[in-house]
Amino acid sequence: MRVRFAPSPTGALHIGGARAALYNWLLAHQLNEQGSGTRGTFMLRIEDTDRERSTDANVAQILDALTWLGLQWDEGPISQVGNTPRHQEALAQLLADGHAYHSNATAEDVKNYKQTHGADRGFRGEPESSGAVRLHVPDDGHTGFEDLVRGEVSFPNAAMDDPVIARADGSVLYNFAVAVDDLDAKITHVVRGEDHISNTPKQLLVFEALGATPPQYAHLPLLHGPDGKKLSKRHGAASVQELRDAGYLPEAVNNYIALLGTGFAPDEEFFTLQEMAERFRLDRVSRSPAVFDEQKLRHLNGMHLRALELDELTERLEQFTGRSGLHDAVAISREKIQTLADFWPLAGFLFDGPADDPAAFARTIGSDAGREALADARAALAEVQAFTPAAVEQALRAVVERRGLKPGQVFQPVRVAIAGTTVSPGIFESVALLGRDRTLELIDRALAR
Ligand code: GLU
Repeated sequence: MRVRFAPSPTGALHIGGARAALYNWLLAHQLNEQGSGTRGTFMLRIEDTDRERSTDANVAQILDALTWLGLQWDEGPISQVGNTPRHQEALAQLLADGHAYHSNATAEDVKNYKQTHGADRGFRGEPESSGAVRLHVPDDGHTGFEDLVRGEVSFPNAAMDDPVIARADGSVLYNFAVAVDDLDAKITHVVRGEDHISNTPKQLLVFEALGATPPQYAHLPLLHGPDGKKLSKRHGAASVQELRDAGYLPEAVNNYIALLGTGFAPDEEFFTLQEMAERFRLDRVSRSPAVFDEQKLRHLNGMHLRALELDELTERLEQFTGRSGLHDAVAISREKIQTLADFWPLAGFLFDGPADDPAAFARTIGSDAGREALADARAALAEVQAFTPAAVEQALRAVVERRGLKPGQVFQPVRVAIAGTTVSPGIFESVALLGRDRTLELIDRALAR
């Protein structure tokens, strides 16, 4: 099996693109059925023929996003523009064989043709000695294929215009370049977004004209947001870069995308890339749009995050935040975060001091009762010998008992004194981690406000 991912570097790598890349990668990483232990080849081709919109920065960003996802390619990246000599050779062959012809027909000519022959008649031009190049489409029969996701797809030839495959200046058009490149790379399976389905008959006709056997095709249904509308920025992160900045783990992104519209049971939700490759089947991909729900990704991300070894999670968080020495804070925060981005707002006070949240202060320490509870807590904590979470808990619970309060009436003032807000990792663990001196200092500061 030889598959490819063929992004156009006209923007960032979007989630739909990441899905196409992942599905191709998974296919290439399935061991072949004879059990010989070999696998397929995943190739990367940069479709940079749109010279105005293709930029080096976009190429770099796509490669970076694929690398972050762990979708390493086996061949490439190949530049489509780099294949120009080969495109010219194939074009000359089709012209010489009579499969293609020059034509100066304009859009106006095509319109007139349809007025004469009927709106659903495909345009057929008169061969001329110069001009753009069109491919001959047979007058009868169908151009079709068995889509590995959608089943039989077929287009009547009579309704298809002879497609333009090269401009008058000799530069080839997209569908021609794609077919020639897929042929030369011996691609066996083309897996891409459904938006390309109308290109497929044109590409099939190029294969046919070149006397070659086309690959098999699978078109992946569109991605929708939870509201049923086409996935866009409105639904949250839309590109891989944005998912990364939002603190998602590549493992979770891959896992979630792999499950999108493939009908896995919920209890099969947690996979590594290699496990996904073993389970993935194109015929499990649903024909209806898949729903990308960032809340589900968040949930799955939390699971992946907690499954990491503490040292590994610490390293990722240190990279994400650009801070060091996070280990102990990570240990007490990991149950409370779903993304890497959740960590600093939760635990940053352990390093940078309390946050500034006057409303939380007013609510918990602003009243006489709050101040008194906090003063009692201070006195109790000052007596604690070994400053462990268990000892801190015991001291604070004793205050709760003695004053006949609810736990929160003591814990919350302490929390706001040390964290500045009402969100933090577990209060006993946080206090123990800060240590006695620092905790008392922060409580004194709060009492003096
Ligand atoms: N370059 C196309 C795109 O980025 C993909 C073409 C293909 O996979 O055949 O949408």
